[in-house]
Amino acid sequence: MTEIYQPNEILLIKNGEIALKGLNRRNFEDALIKNLRYRLQHAGDFRLRCAQSTIYIEPKNDYADLEEACDSVSRVFGISAFSRARVVEKDLATIQQAAADYLAERLRECATFKVEAKRADKKFPYTSPEISREVGGYILSKFPHLKVDVHNPELQIMVEIRDFGAYIHAEQLPGAGGMPVGTGGKAAILISGGIDSPVAAYMMAKRGIKLVGVHFASPPYTSERAEQKVISLLEKVGRYAGHMKLRIVPFTHIQEEIRRACPEEYFTLIMRRFMMRLAQRVARDENCGALITGESVAQVASQTIPALAVTDVLATMPVFRPVIGMDKEEIVAIARKIDTFELSIQPYEDCCTVFTPRHPCTRPKVAKVAEAESVLDIDALVEEAMAGIRVLDI
Ligand code: ATP
Ligand code: MG
Repeated sequence: MTEIYQPNEILLIKNGEIALKGLNRRNFEDALIKNLRYRLQHAGDFRLRCAQSTIYIEPKNDYADLEEACDSVSRVFGISAFSRARVVEKDLATIQQAAADYLAERLRECATFKVEAKRADKKFPYTSPEISREVGGYILSKFPHLKVDVHNPELQIMVEIRDFGAYIHAEQLPGAGGMPVGTGGKAAILISGGIDSPVAAYMMAKRGIKLVGVHFASPPYTSERAEQKVISLLEKVGRYAGHMKLRIVPFTHIQEEIRRACPEEYFTLIMRRFMMRLAQRVARDENCGALITGESVAQVASQTIPALAVTDVLATMPVFRPVIGMDKEEIVAIARKIDTFELSIQPYEDCCTVFTPRHPCTRPKVAKVAEAESVLDIDALVEEAMAGIRVLDI
């Protein structure tokens, strides 16, 4: 029989919002574990198991990188908080010594502390208050400069006696919050190279939605590098949202046709109606139930209420616009947090900036726009673009 590797340190994950989901809880936990497994791949071999609303992430060998695992876990949705914990045998003397060793550096640096114990395994012969007292007393004997402060300690030490062992940890680290990706269904994110759409993608993934990227490219007006920028942005978003597909839709011919045959003041609106039609086709092909965009009211001419109405009349599925009521500064704050901002501000052209009307119509009437575009063979243009789609894995 091969001996089971005993890790010194593991990650303990207390499920956040998902613990509230009653009957569905199993599905949510399963989704979270599946996502964690995928996201931990590059950090080495880990064993994952779930008991009493806690997920245990345990290194399977010395090569598993707990530091890297921590970093990945901090971006997995469905986790409100987690801790790095020392695992030891369920034996009081061992626990005392391990607590003093494991947190020695922190204990040396602070003036007050407190031990809080939780005994889930009732077979353990000491009660929670007894464990706190015994471990606290031992620490005081090893670090005589310390004082116990039960109300406002600088360092709070948790000792948890659970089924698989005793766990010692300091305060919890913040998780990414939200719901496990995949539990909220799937939606297509219209991703440009700008600041807003990656933030919109992140926000909806946080609610448990799995993403499929849709990007409209107009070569040679838009370059290879503009496309690479979109890929890099989605890779950044993927650190939270997990794996996704990106469908790149050729948009050149449509834009040229609009420019050739339609009134200039409607260029952008007609273009956005084509985006809507095509994105919905892609969404249906990919089993998505909704679209996501990075639109924000009043940011540009095509984001006034009447302009949004011109695209929305074509919608046959919900269109989520999570940044619709946010100021640019608020959006930028999130872009910085998820590390997309620096990429987004790199100056590559987007298809929206090609053929921009000098005087865009900000109060369009749906019927007028529809009439203006009716000179085009809309169905044929849509089919042609659909036939030219490229699919990438992010
Ligand atoms: P962003 O910062 O996301 O580029 P924006 O403020 O520049 O947004 P627009 O260019 O008008 O606004 O685009 C509004 C939304 O339309 C974008 O947030 C995105 O969802 C979608 N969109 C724009 N251009 C493209 C594109 N080339 N491919 C896919 N979706 C796009
Ligand atoms: Mg844009």
